[in-house]
Amino acid sequence: MIVDDLDKAHEALARILAHSNDAVAFTGAGISTECGIPDFRSPDSAWKRHPPVPFEQFLQSADARVETWRRKFAMDDHYAGAKPGRGHRALARLVADGAMSAIITQNIDGLHEASGIEPERIVELHGNGTYAACLDCSARHELSDIRKSFESAPLAPECECGGFIKSATISFGQSMPQSAMRRARDATLRCDLFIAIGSSLVVYPAAGFPAAAKENGAALVIINREQTPLDQIADIVLRGDIGDILAPFERANRLN
Ligand code: NAD
Ligand code: ZN
Repeated sequence: MIVDDLDKAHEALARILAHSNDAVAFTGAGISTECGIPDFRSPDSAWKRHPPVPFEQFLQSADARVETWRRKFAMDDHYAGAKPGRGHRALARLVADGAMSAIITQNIDGLHEASGIEPERIVELHGNGTYAACLDCSARHELSDIRKSFESAPLAPECECGGFIKSATISFGQSMPQSAMRRARDATLRCDLFIAIGSSLVVYPAAGFPAAAKENGAALVIINREQTPLDQIADIVLRGDIGDILAPFERANRLN
């Protein structure tokens, strides 16, 4: 069922949430566009001007590492000051009310945590771009320190242990984090309602989760302003703006 009328979308979502005992949300870049963070695939996306450097190149050359950091800081200027939007706040409310047990996200912007959801309920499949980590010893490094030294001398930062420091995100070509994948799989197979929000659902393995939930018997809801390749297996497709569709759920998880 495709619903493109806003009132009907609110009713349909309220009804399916009322019948669920354990909902899980799966979020992509679309939930953060109203916060001023561009998604990946829109034609005018700033990501097109500062595309991510593949992991292999980062490992192979110091020049690629410097370029990775230059693009990272350029993108950070777009993210600066971003605050959770209506979608993030609605999900925080659903979690607080016990209607939703976990948020699996492809986003690296940290906005689910900023909306007040405890970290244990958030699975960051692609890591977190608000800090950095050593690729060898995993020590955490703060971006503000790295940026200060990068701006005085543009050299790729290295850890005390000698390892390369990289933003704590999963780059193209880097293997998926095993514990996040396991937690995402557990939440997916435990839930009875899986809501995919603002993801183009084309990046694997992340996009495999909605299909796995559906195959396991959960209801599948997709919220997106555009078609996705999984629309055909969804129980309900809510076609429209994420903030508009989720806004009423900021106030209550059961609409009557
Ligand atoms: P994507 O850019 O491929 O897709 C975003 C989807 O959201 C699109 O289908 C678009 O139609 C939809 N959308 C955008 N704004 C919307 C709105 N207001 N209402 C309804 N729908 C809307 O994003 P993705 O599938 O998450 O994959 C991109 C990858 O790039 C991710 O793996 C992520 O790691 C990374 N990324 C992260 C961020 C972030 O952290 N905010 C931003 C860009 C890219
Ligand atoms: Zn180290």
